[in-house]
Amino acid sequence: MNYVMHFCRNSRLSERSKNYCNNGWIDKDLTNVKSYAPDWKYCPECAEKLGIDYDTQTPTSNLTEKELEHLEFMKEKARKMRERAKQKINSTVTNRG
Ligand SMILES: [Zn+2]
Repeated sequence: MNYVMHFCRNSRLSERSKNYCNNGWIDKDLTNVKSYAPDWKYCPECAEKLGIDYDTQTPTSNLTEKELEHLEFMKEKARKMRERAKQKINSTVTNRG
C-alpha cells in the first residue's frame, strides 16, 4: 500500500467559507494518484465535526448526489467512447474486403 499526501475535503470550499480547512496529512493512497494530493477525505477534525467516521471514508463516500451523478455520467461517456472506438476498428476490418 502506498501512502500519499491528502488534503481535507473541506479545502475544496472557498476560503471565505467558515468551514474552510487547510489540513494535510499522509494517508493510504486508495486512488493511485500520481501528481496531485487527493482531497476526497475529511481530516479527523472535520470528520468529527460532521459526524463522519474518519476510518470508513472511501473515495466516493463523501460525494454529494450531484458529484455522484457527474461521476456516473463520465463513466458512461468513457464506456460509449470505448464502444465507438471498437466499432470503428471493426468496420475498418470488414470494409477491407
Ligand atoms: Zn478538515
